Amino acid sequence: MAAGRDPASVRLVAVTKTMSAVYVNEAIAAGVTDIGENRVQEAADKFPLLRGNVRRHLIGHLQSNKARTAIELFDYIHTVDSIKLAERLDHIAKELGRHPVVLAQVDLGKEATKSGIDENELYDLARCLASCTQLDFRGLMTIPPFFPDANATRPYFHRLHELLIELNTRAITPKPLSELSMGMSHDFAVAIAEGATLVRVGTAIFGTRQ
Ligand SMILES: *Cc1c(COP(=O)(O)O)cnc(C)c1O
Repeated sequence: MAAGRDPASVRLVAVTKTMSAVYVNEAIAAGVTDIGENRVQEAADKFPLLRGNVRRHLIGHLQSNKARTAIELFDYIHTVDSIKLAERLDHIAKELGRHPVVLAQVDLGKEATKSGIDENELYDLARCLASCTQLDFRGLMTIPPFFPDANATRPYFHRLHELLIELNTRAITPKPLSELSMGMSHDFAVAIAEGATLVRVGTAIFGTRQ
């Protein structure tokens, strides 16, 4: 690979939001192993129609009133952005006997419209997630601001990787955190070069959304 990365260390999450179950089933038949949805309700409608075994990733903002459904539906939750949400997910996962993989979403763009926790509050959230016994805390996720030039996103991806290393230096989890969810259709190559382990790609697989 151009980035000098082992292809096995990067997983493709096919983002299926707005795509009907027919398309998603074709993608699964073609070998897609991981799918991403950004809305809990859309996933609740679609997932019962899917055939085959895929890992299911929630990549959109999670409101706490949807936490229970999210725990029922998803294997990975990329968007934990507060201690309150983390504690709620842990509590519900215990009730339901589930052990979802979770990532802390970090807001590196300082944009009011984007969700995610501020960098300076990340350590406290990470410590909380590490202590949540039902949650399998594995890493970080970010959505950088949009730039027409994909290379302009590089500093954001680089920073997220630095934050992962900083958390690992402090050894808050028994095993080092290993997942970096970053990169979309127009900038996944840059994200992979900066250490992404999960890239979330929709348009480049399925074409433009309606
Ligand atoms: C829609 C979405 C993607 C995929 O975007 P594309 O540009 O279609 O690849 C990735 N991540 C999140 C959080 C999304 O909402």
